[in-house]
Amino acid sequence: MMCVSRLQWVQLAYMNPTAPSKRLQSARSLDQISVTSLKGVGPRVAEKLTKLGIYTLQDVLFHLPLRYQDRTRIVPIGSLRPGAQAVIEGEVDLTEISFGRRRTLLCRISDGTGSITFRFFHFSKAQQAALGRGIKIRCYGEVRPGKVTMEMIHPEYQRVEDDEALPAEDSLTPIYPTTEGVHQLTLRNITGQVLEYLETGNYGLTEWLNNEVLSVFPSSQALPSLTDALVFLHRPPPDTSVERLEQGFHPAQQRLVFEELISHQLSLRKLRQRVRSNSAYKFSGHGKLNRLFLEQLPFELTGAQSRVVDEILQDLACGHPMMRLVQGDVGSGKTVVAALSALTVIESGYQVALMAPTELLSEQHFHNLKQWLDPLGMKVEWLSGKHKGKARAEILERMKSGTANLVVGTHALFQEGVEFNNLAFIIVDEQHRFGVHQRLALREKGSRDGKHSHQLIMTATPIPRTLAMTAYADLDVSVIDELPSGRKPVKTVVIPNTRREEVVQRVRTACSEGQQAYWVCTLIEESEVLQCQAAADTEVLLQEALPDLSVGLVHGRMKSAEKEAIMKRFKLGEIDLLVATTVIEVGVDVPNASLMIIENAERLGLAQLHQLRGRVGRGCAESNCVLMYHAPLSRLAKERLAIMRKTNDGFEIARKDMEIRGPGEMLGTRQTGLLQMRVADLMRDQKLLPFVRDSADLLLEKYPDHVDPLIQRWIGDNVQYGDV
Ligand code: ADP
Ligand code: MG
Repeated sequence: MMCVSRLQWVQLAYMNPTAPSKRLQSARSLDQISVTSLKGVGPRVAEKLTKLGIYTLQDVLFHLPLRYQDRTRIVPIGSLRPGAQAVIEGEVDLTEISFGRRRTLLCRISDGTGSITFRFFHFSKAQQAALGRGIKIRCYGEVRPGKVTMEMIHPEYQRVEDDEALPAEDSLTPIYPTTEGVHQLTLRNITGQVLEYLETGNYGLTEWLNNEVLSVFPSSQALPSLTDALVFLHRPPPDTSVERLEQGFHPAQQRLVFEELISHQLSLRKLRQRVRSNSAYKFSGHGKLNRLFLEQLPFELTGAQSRVVDEILQDLACGHPMMRLVQGDVGSGKTVVAALSALTVIESGYQVALMAPTELLSEQHFHNLKQWLDPLGMKVEWLSGKHKGKARAEILERMKSGTANLVVGTHALFQEGVEFNNLAFIIVDEQHRFGVHQRLALREKGSRDGKHSHQLIMTATPIPRTLAMTAYADLDVSVIDELPSGRKPVKTVVIPNTRREEVVQRVRTACSEGQQAYWVCTLIEESEVLQCQAAADTEVLLQEALPDLSVGLVHGRMKSAEKEAIMKRFKLGEIDLLVATTVIEVGVDVPNASLMIIENAERLGLAQLHQLRGRVGRGCAESNCVLMYHAPLSRLAKERLAIMRKTNDGFEIARKDMEIRGPGEMLGTRQTGLLQMRVADLMRDQKLLPFVRDSADLLLEKYPDHVDPLIQRWIGDNVQYGDV
C-alpha cells in the first residue's frame, strides 16, 4: 500500500495548494494532485467526493460514466422508435388538460416529419400557459408508444426563441454514478477540468500496463492508449452509438475493462501471497483417527470426497495457513470432508471450530459430528444461544481449557468473551456470502505465537470455474463434483396454484405410504412477519385438509427450542408433513423426506430453489418436487422454472442463474467488493479472465512495482489487508 493515505492527500493539498501550473517542465502525474485543486471543489465538495472514492485527479478520471445520453443531434420526430431517448425540436400544436382517471396535461408537438405527445401528470397553470400553440421547444426524453401518437412522459424541455439556434451538445452526455449532494453537473464539470489538464500534456497518467502486458489481450484490434480511452469514455464524440457503448465492447471500454480486471486479480493475488507467507501449525497427523473414523462410517467416501480430503490434508501439512473453498452441490457430503479434516488437527492436540450460518444448522452439525466423533473419544461441544448461565459457563470453560476438541456454533463462536485454548482450524459452512474482509477477520481469531489458523470454507453454491477463480483468487478451490452413489434425481413438476387440490392429494398419498413431505411457503411480501403468518395459516389449512396426517410448522420467528423440537420430531418421523418458511433452505437432512412442495416458486431464485429441492432425494425412495406458481408467469420466470424441471445439476443451474441474474447477485457480492467494478462485468467479460490471469502473472513476476499503483488506482482503500 502507499504510505500516504488518501485522506492525508486531501489534507496535504489544503496546506499546500498545488494549483496546476503550465510552468512545470515534465508531465505531473495526476495521482499526485488532490481534487481540491479543481475550480469549484472546496472542502465541502471534496468531502462528498470521498464517498465516491475520489481523492485525486486520477480518481476523477477513473470515476467512469454508468451510461450515456445522446443529446448531440436533433432527431426528426417521424423517425423516433419506442424505447429511444432523443432530443427533438418542434412547435406546439395543442396543449390541453385531459380529465381521465388522472388529471393530465397533454401537449402535442410537430416538426414537419411527425407529431408526438407529451404527458405531464404534475403540472402548473404557468406551465400550461407557457406551452401555447406555436411556441418552439427543444426537449429530451424517452419515447414510448401512445394511443394516437408516440409519447414522452415528463420530458425535459426548454423554449427556443425563433431567431436563436440552441447549440447541440458536442459529445454524448455522460451519466456518472453519484452520491447524495453531488450533482451530475458537478461531476461533468470536474471531469471536464481534468480532461483539459490531460490535453495540455503537462499532466499525465502513468501507464502501468506496458505493451508486453497489453499484447496478452486477445484481439486483432489494437487497444487505444489509457489516456485516449479515458478521454473517449468521458466524452464520446457525437457519432458514437449509445447502444454500442451499452454493450461494453468498444475498444476504449475493453482497454479499461482489461486493466480493471487485472487490478482486481492482482489485489486478490497479493492478498493470497501475504497469507501464504505467514506461518501456521503443520498438521501431518498419523492418520490413525481418520482410519478409525472411516471404518465406522456406514458408507465409502466418493472419489471426489477422498480427493478433496487429500487436498485439504496437504494444505494442513505445509506450514502456511490454508485458505480453501470447498464447493459441493447439495448432498455431495461436505460434512464428512469437514470431519476428516478436523480430525487431523485434533489428533495433533489442537482445537477446531465449525461455524454454521444458523442455530438450526449448527445443531444438526453438532449431532452428526458428535455421533461420529464420540466413539473416537473426541469431545464435541455446541455453543448455542440457548445455553445460558451455568451450562454456558461450563462450555466456555471447556473451550478455554482445551477439553473441547471441536466446537460447533454460529458466528457467536467469535464474539467477545469466547476463548479457545489453542484454536488452529476454522471451518465455515454454507457461507458463500462471506467476503474477503470477513475471511481475514476470522483468520485473526485463531492466530497466536505468530502462527495463523487454517481456514476451510464450504459452500453449496456452485460457481462456474472461471468465475470462482476470479472471485476467489485469494482462495484455493476444491470441488466435490460427484454425488454419493444411489442418489436418484428428484423429479420436478411445475403446477399452477389453481391445482392446489391435486397437490394436497399428492401429499396425502405419499405420506400414507410412509414417506414425509415439506411444504415451503414463500410470500410476495418481503416482510418476515407476513411470511411466518402465511406459513402458520397454511399449516392450519393443510391440517384441516389432511386430518389423518401429523402436520408440523417451523418458521424463522419461532424460538429456537421450539424449532428444534419440531425438526427433531420430523426427523424421528413423528411429523409427516412439515410446513416451513425458507428457514429449511440450508442443510437440513432428513433422508425419509421425499416430497417437496414449494409455493410461489416463481418468486425464488434458481439457487434457492435448488437448495430447497436438495432437501429431498437423500434417501432410497424416488423423490419429487412440485413447484407451484401463480399465473401469469413472466417469460423469465417460465425460463427459470423450466430449467429446474430439466436438470438437477447444481453447476448447470448456477450457470443459467448467472446468465439470467448476473454474477453479482449470485455471489452476494455487495460484501466481497470484488464485483463492484466500474467498467468490467464478470459475465460479459468472462472470456478475458484467462488472459487477465496471464497478465497478472507477468506483472507480478517482471514488473512488481506496477502492482501496487494499479491496485491503488482501481480499488484504492477498499482493500484492506489488515495486519498480515
Ligand atoms: P452437504 O454437502 O449438502 O452438506 P451432507 O454432508 O449433509 O451434504 O451429506 C448429505 C447426506 O449424505 C448425509 O446424510 C451424509 O451422511 C450422506 N453421505 C455423505 N457422504 C456419503 C457417501 N460417500 N456415501 C453415502 N452417503 C453419504
Ligand atoms: Mg451441508
